[in-house]
Amino acid sequence: MANGKINVAVENIFPLIKKFLYSDHEIFLRELISNATDATSKLVHLSSIGEVKGEIGDPLIEVKVDKKSKKIHIIDQGVGMTKEEVNKYINEVAFSGAEEFLEKYKDNAKDSGIIGHFGLGFYSAFMVAEKVEIITKSHQNAPAAHWTCDGSPEYSIEKSGKKDRGTEIILHIAKDSKEFLEEARIRELLNKYNKFMPYPIKFGTKEETLPLPDDAKEDAKPETKTVDNIINNTSPAWTKPPADLKEENYKSFYRELYPMQFEDPLFNIHLNVDYPFNLTGILYFPKIQNDLNLQKDKIQLYQNQVFVTDNVEGIVPEFLTLLRGVIDSPDIPLNVSRSYLQADGAVKKISNYITRKVADKLNSLFKKDRKGFEEKWNDIKVVIEYGMLTEDKFYEKAGQFMLYPTTDGEYLTYNELETAVKDNQTDKDGKLMFLYASNVEEQHQYIETAKEKGYKVLLLDSPIIAHLIQKLEGEKENIGFARVDGDAIENLIKKEEATVSKMSDEEKESLKPLIEAVIPEKKYTVQLEAMDSKGLPFVLTQPEFMRRMKEMQNTGGGMMGAFPEMYTLLVNTNHELVEQILQTKTAKKRERLIQQSLDLARLSQNLLKGEALTAFIKRSVELIK
Ligand code: ADP
Ligand code: MG
Repeated sequence: MANGKINVAVENIFPLIKKFLYSDHEIFLRELISNATDATSKLVHLSSIGEVKGEIGDPLIEVKVDKKSKKIHIIDQGVGMTKEEVNKYINEVAFSGAEEFLEKYKDNAKDSGIIGHFGLGFYSAFMVAEKVEIITKSHQNAPAAHWTCDGSPEYSIEKSGKKDRGTEIILHIAKDSKEFLEEARIRELLNKYNKFMPYPIKFGTKEETLPLPDDAKEDAKPETKTVDNIINNTSPAWTKPPADLKEENYKSFYRELYPMQFEDPLFNIHLNVDYPFNLTGILYFPKIQNDLNLQKDKIQLYQNQVFVTDNVEGIVPEFLTLLRGVIDSPDIPLNVSRSYLQADGAVKKISNYITRKVADKLNSLFKKDRKGFEEKWNDIKVVIEYGMLTEDKFYEKAGQFMLYPTTDGEYLTYNELETAVKDNQTDKDGKLMFLYASNVEEQHQYIETAKEKGYKVLLLDSPIIAHLIQKLEGEKENIGFARVDGDAIENLIKKEEATVSKMSDEEKESLKPLIEAVIPEKKYTVQLEAMDSKGLPFVLTQPEFMRRMKEMQNTGGGMMGAFPEMYTLLVNTNHELVEQILQTKTAKKRERLIQQSLDLARLSQNLLKGEALTAFIKRSVELIK
């Protein structure tokens, strides 16, 4: 038996490990299973190049919890270590054996999937254990070794009688970490970190029901048999070549990732690149609802099939955090801060690659099956709009498949839209105006009026549309967007209409103060307009600019400061009722007519609420009595 002192620069690294190495103590299990997996990968690799002779079978990794004696065992059948190797790899802290292995076999070991990197993984065991033992036998013909360390830098190493190849790590769980002696807690961790690791991991056993033989009697009970309980899927879909996968495989993998998710994803994007960086994964487009924040953080990040985090901020462009799925890359540096990540060149490349793949996929879906794409549009548009707003590269590509739906259920590309409206939707300065509605129900009357005039009305109703419109107006020349119930539409209507006013200028002059006297609040600007006599007597519009700024504020960004509620009250001088207002001699009756017309205009904008609504209903009853 030999005793020694673990070779570390700091006198006592253990308290440091315990406190600072990882804030999350639970990752000890991930680290130890990663080491077991690495040892197995090495064995498989050495066997494949003939350095390990004979059959290696199907190496298994086993996790056992022994609550009574307060121990956890992690057992593998990998390469094992000689005594010398234990000295080298375990006693020399921060000397990563994984990196040395990769270095030595660098020409052919790249694809062997070694996980270790930092050389401190093993010591994370001391975050939860007061004593750790390693019993290990190398694949080389050497006696097995038994290493013990109680958490101080002193350790002992002696011979062991272990006969079969591989390593057993025994953790004597510390008092403050008793939670890890609960089977349920360990199962939870295995499910979180190790669900897709490449070698089978056994945790306990389970009963399996055997199928009944064909000639079984009717009341025959099926037999059961005790089998290993394997907790992982060793070859998850993202590790397979896309050509080997069918639609159904992608869907079932989605259900494997999100067992509580009942809705199928709309489509998927298989990521697969090995140069200039290594990255695989599958992204899914779920149906995106309007509440964006609720849906973020569903993408899982893996390194060589080990779960790392579901916070991919800084790695994936913001707009894509609305998607789901997995990304697996050994090339993402994870031992650094998020803000550093964003500046890291490799990470930037990865993020650009993902953006481009998503754009290409959308484009090909659009080209291949436009109708199918249109059907999905409402469920994916937010991601696309979000991407156009935040990633210039995506904006450039999205021009080809961004769709502008109309209130009549057409879906137009930008070019198609331009062609469709260029002849009759320009204002007096020759600027092309796109009309849009944000709510078919609430803006029904305005939409109808615009359509009667032969205008195309788009339906743009996502929560961030105001931002995108603002951007489009800035990027494209001589175009503008105007909501149907806004003031900008007047420019178009007036030009088209050329309706003659039935009212003389003197009449108008006496009408305006009559109305202003009754309109209570300062927020209405009264404006007399000769409009269609079959239209409404009063129409409310809101300045496009004000409304848009307000919307932008509500969804973040836009100009600061409170924007007042401001409306223009258009009084249709060609309307019979307005004529009547002017002719009515009794002040009371006139006031009632004005009030009623204003309330009707407010009602059609969904602005009549509370007390005002009650008063309106009362007045209406009076009027029809
Ligand atoms: P890393 O995995 O980054 O190399 P670790 O601290 O996790 O760092 O492990 C240090 C080294 O100890 C490994 O590189 C490996 O050589 C050796 N080792 C740890 N666990 C095992 C194991 N189960 N079987 C064989 N070797 C192991
Ligand atoms: Mg490791």
